[in-house]
Order: sequence, then structure tokens, then C-alpha cells
Amino acid sequence: MTECETPDRRGSHLVLCMTRCVGMEGQKEIIDRLRRSFCLGVTFPEQFRLAQLDAVLSLVKENETLILAALHQDLAKPKFEAVLSEIDMVMNETCFAINNLRTWMQPEYVGKNLATKLDDCFVRREPLGVVLIIGAWNYPLQLILLPLVAAIAAGNCAVLKPSEISQATEKLLAELIPKYLSNECYAVVCGGAEETKALLENRFNHIFYTGSQKVARNILQAAAVHLTPVTLELGGKCPCLIYGKLDIKAAAKRLAWAKFFNAGQSCVAPDYVLCTPQIQASLIPALREALETFYTVQPQQCPDVGRIVTDRHWDRLIKMLGGSAGTVEIGGESDKEEKYIAPTVLVDVKESDVLMEEEIFGPILPILTIQTLEDGINFMNRREPPLALYVFSDEPQVVGKVLEQTSSGGFCSNDGIVHMTLPELPFGGVGASGMGSYHGRWGFETFTHRRGCMLRGWGLEQINVLRYPPYQETNLGW
Ligand code: NAD
Repeated sequence: MTECETPDRRGSHLVLCMTRCVGMEGQKEIIDRLRRSFCLGVTFPEQFRLAQLDAVLSLVKENETLILAALHQDLAKPKFEAVLSEIDMVMNETCFAINNLRTWMQPEYVGKNLATKLDDCFVRREPLGVVLIIGAWNYPLQLILLPLVAAIAAGNCAVLKPSEISQATEKLLAELIPKYLSNECYAVVCGGAEETKALLENRFNHIFYTGSQKVARNILQAAAVHLTPVTLELGGKCPCLIYGKLDIKAAAKRLAWAKFFNAGQSCVAPDYVLCTPQIQASLIPALREALETFYTVQPQQCPDVGRIVTDRHWDRLIKMLGGSAGTVEIGGESDKEEKYIAPTVLVDVKESDVLMEEEIFGPILPILTIQTLEDGINFMNRREPPLALYVFSDEPQVVGKVLEQTSSGGFCSNDGIVHMTLPELPFGGVGASGMGSYHGRWGFETFTHRRGCMLRGWGLEQINVLRYPPYQETNLGW
């Protein structure tokens, strides 16, 4: 029996229990309910999609204060950072989808050959079904709502599984989504690894996962059971290569902002710097000046410095810092009580250092020295392709060479993070940093099946005679 064979034609008015840990039965009930709505075609019409996208806008606009409070509770996110990277990102993405939806939904007519000249040949973009969106804790609102916007735009039903680590935002999403969006088409399931594993036993039509590479392997294994297509938005170590002539003070400001935004807990944060010893000598004072200007000489007291999300992550970072053979040049202070780590910069870090093993994902920036541009390129190419790769230089041939000779999910010269704010650009990894992409039309495509359609008439049957048996080899190439 196919998923849509027995839709409940009466429609469904069940009130869902969107609370923590609904249990396997509860999860199945939710998925069945969403599937019924999908099979009834509830999410297909453009008007429905637009209304739900409007509802996402209202959810964010009307609850900005609650959202900011939740993000502050989870990560001590400064208001400016929360607005820029969570609220505005969601609003922009939603408005972009609303403004472009009609174009995206249009059938795409394709070129034809002689044999299909009289036919209608087009790509029809169809929703996939009931999709699962699993979010991570570092941008807990954005990482659920951005994929949701794409899933809605593409006409799907969606189960949302926010990260349990960013508890306040998880709770808020579980309260707000059912208040604003159709309960028959979208649902929040809360919980941690166990609940997510149980959820993954169900069949979805797509799984969109944001999180670590380690857990991504479990996601892929679970998806394999049902042959479910998967998008993986993962992390890795994003390098920042600084080379040649450039304004080192401007470079230090942009680098420090991108690295220490959200206390370094960004998947696209520059993870480490590669530069020559000469550049390092001028970069360190420039970074010190930038950090003192941004966060004062007492960053722990500065409201613009966020906190590490949990004790476990704080311990992990402190262990990394303690195990490093590098020299702390800036920062290094920490306070477990407050889950605080000062913006920290280290020099004399070697490729074999503990800081170069895993993604740092915190406010610690190691600097490694290279002698030539080729050294830097070879260094980066010895590692897995990162989610983002940054090069800082005022020399276009340097930027061009790095772009040409490396691979990464995204690329940005002379800045960090900002490339992900443009919905026209696909956002996603390559190799171990992820598979698939989203943002803007790319997200719509991720949650869409491109159905190749050929509508034929009955004309020109005399030409078809050429392909019917008994075969005549002389007819090949008709
Ligand atoms: P996390 O611990 O919040 O986990 C992510 C999700 O996986 C959560 O919803 C969690 O409940 C679920 N989960 C945890 N263990 C599981 C298991 N065993 N089985 C099934 N589900 C499980 O987040 P994290 O993994 O610590 O996230 C940090 C990572 O995410 C970093 O590597 C970061 O670079 C990456 N990240 C990537 C992006 C991106 O867009 N590419 C964005 C943010 C974070």
C-alpha cells in the first residue's frame, strides 16, 4: 500500500500534543496526521503556502521579545547578534520565498528534439511529502525556521525537531508553532537523542539535518532503512588564509567579528588562521586592538560577549585550550560558573596540535604560520573540504588562486560569515562538511521533486512505425 492510498477524506481535527517526549506512539500519530493532510493535498495550493509563510512572519514579529529572551537564556546572545543572525535571517528568507514563490512553482519548459517537437515537455516541481527537520543549538531559531520556510514553500508537511540543548528556544518553538501554523501540516517534536532516534524509525520523504558529523552518520544509517533522501548541514574546520598586501587593521576587525560572533559557536566561524610570520606580527596587535574596541578590556563584563552553551561544551573547550602546545597571545581567561571563555588567540600552533583535530566551535582562534601561498593551499587541501573557506588579501590573483585551487561548501574573500546572509547563494557543505544546500531557491529545490513530464498526443503515428518491431537497422538514427 502506498502512503497516500487511504487518505482520511473527513480531514483531521485532532489536537496534537506538542509537548516534550510524546513517545513513539505519539510521534507516529503526529506523522500519520501530517501524512493524511499531505495526501489530501492541503499543502499544495500556492495560497496555502503563502498563508503559512505569512504566519511564520507573524510568529517572529509578534514574539520578538520572547525570542530574544529565549536566545539570551540559552546562549546569552547579545540582542544585536540575535536580531541579525536569527530574527532578520528568518524574516528575510521568508519574504524572499513569498516574493518568489510563484516563479519557483512554475513548470519549466525544456528544449525538444525532432521526435518530441509536438509534445509538451516540462519539469514540474512537486512537494516531497512529510519531511523531518532536525536543528542544532547554536542558532536554534534560524536552524529550524529557515528549513521550515523552504519546506512550506515547496508544499510539504514538516515535523520539526529543535535541539534539546537550547532548551528555552526549543520550548518556545513548541509553544508558538502550533499557535501560528496549521496543526494538520506542521508539528514540533521535542526531545534529545533518544526521541530523535525513535522519530527516525518512521518513514519520512526527506530528512534535513543540521548538526555534527558524528550524529550525521546515525542519521544516514536511519535514512538508509527507508531509502529516504537526506540533506546534511554539518561543520568542520573553516580556514582563514591571510596573504599578501592588505589592510591588516580592517582584516583584524572582520576576522574578530566573524570568529567571536555568538562566542565562536558558528558553523561558518573561521576556525583557524594561516598566515606568514610577517603578517602574524602585525595581525596580533591589530586583533588585540579590535577585541578591546569591540568588547573592552574586561570582556567578561561586556554584554556583547555570549556564553558557551553548556558545561559539557565549556569543559571540552577548556580541555582543548589546556592541551594545546600553542602560546596564548590574547585572552585565555575563563569562568566555569558563567560558562565564559574570553576571546582567545594563540600563536605557535602546529598542524599536529589538539586545536587542529576537531572543529573548535568556541571563542578560541589558533594562528598557524606558512611561508608561501602554496603552503597555505596545500595545508587546506590536506584536510576535509570545510563548510566555508576564507581568504583575506588585497591581491586579486591571491584570491583567485585560492578559489581556483581549493574546495569548500562556500567561499568568501575579505570577510567571514556574511556570504550566508544572501538568499541567492546556496548554503551547504561538500564532502565531510555536508551534502545538499538551502537558502532561497536552493531550499525550495531541496524540498522539491523535479518531475520530468512529457505530454504526448496521438499525431505522427506514421513516424513511430520506424521504432516498432520487426526492427530494421536501417531505421536507426531516424
Ligand atoms: P546538537 O547536539 O544540538 O545536535 C543536533 C541535533 O541532533 C539535535 O536536534 C539533537 O537532538 C540531535 N541528536 C543528537 N544526538 C543524536 C543521535 N545520537 N541520534 C539522532 N539525533 C541526535 O548539535 P551539535 O551536533 O552539537 O551541533 C553542532 C554541529 O553542528 C557543529 O559541527 C556545527 O558546525 C554544525 N552546524 C552546522 C550548521 C550548518 O548549517 N552547516 C549550522 C549549525 C551547526
